[in-house]
Amino acid sequence: MDVARIRVRLPIKSLGWVNSYLIGSALIDPGMAWGRSLLDLSRGLAEAGVSPCSLESVVVTHFHVDHSTASTMVYYISGARLYIGEGDLKVIRGGVEEYIGSALQLYQEAGMPKEEVEEIRMSHPALRLRDVYEEAASLDWRPLQEGDTIDLGGARAEVLEAPGHTPGHILLKLPGERLIVGDTLLPGITPHVTIHNWRDDPLGWYMESLSRIAGIGASVAYPGHRDPIQDPAGRAREILEHHKSRLAEVLGLLREGPLAGYDVARRIKWRTRYSSWEEYPAPERFFAMGEALAHIRRLEVEGLVEEVDLGGVKGWRLA
Ligand SMILES: [Zn+2]
Repeated sequence: MDVARIRVRLPIKSLGWVNSYLIGSALIDPGMAWGRSLLDLSRGLAEAGVSPCSLESVVVTHFHVDHSTASTMVYYISGARLYIGEGDLKVIRGGVEEYIGSALQLYQEAGMPKEEVEEIRMSHPALRLRDVYEEAASLDWRPLQEGDTIDLGGARAEVLEAPGHTPGHILLKLPGERLIVGDTLLPGITPHVTIHNWRDDPLGWYMESLSRIAGIGASVAYPGHRDPIQDPAGRAREILEHHKSRLAEVLGLLREGPLAGYDVARRIKWRTRYSSWEEYPAPERFFAMGEALAHIRRLEVEGLVEEVDLGGVKGWRLA
């Protein structure tokens, strides 16, 4: 079972392209509903000698705009079966706009000024494709769960649930100890984790997903962006270490006194080429705020910090 990679360009500068994988007549992560993405996808299929009409299944690792939104077009052309993790299907059916809105609501509760929240809302790529998501929500998706198997190009692939980057992110385990990992494992960049309510602990889920990958000992991982990862277990451990040191950094900031979530986000030493928070483009501030809150929530679940009201704004202090 060969895995052919099609590099599909994205209108998201920081990522450049998304990897779409062709396995027999199955396509994993067809990419984004954007002209050049569709051009690259159709050229890639032609080069592989596969007619888009002959695709039998489309599997989406997670619902994000750069991976899933081209699925609708592929579905109308081919009638392929559509697969997605159960948790992410719930997000699509519940409305992606509402889902992102729920994160932005928390950002505001944790002290991000309303104008900044609105600036982020206006620039979010998923919200610019809200009509595409609405159409996708009406399609006949088949939800995948842990342990399910699906036929990919005549071979069986096993589904592993790996929540964190999204609540219903899935991995596919292929024969030969190969893993399709979507954005759960990326080379050179750390996948984004944010929160959508004050109850869940997505960073906790994500760190568990990483520990699990570290334990699998796969021979290669095919990520959603950049090149294949030759030591998936090692990369999973590196990202785990990154989050452990980020947790220690947040704890260190709160050791100096209670802080609003927004002030934690502004004080973390992000790896970025921008020199101040004010210089960050809106998407960077969306990521930073989400990461900060996900780390705070993890520390709260561990019982190391507790919430405190800072004049109507949510803040945290050492427990
Ligand atoms: Zn992605």
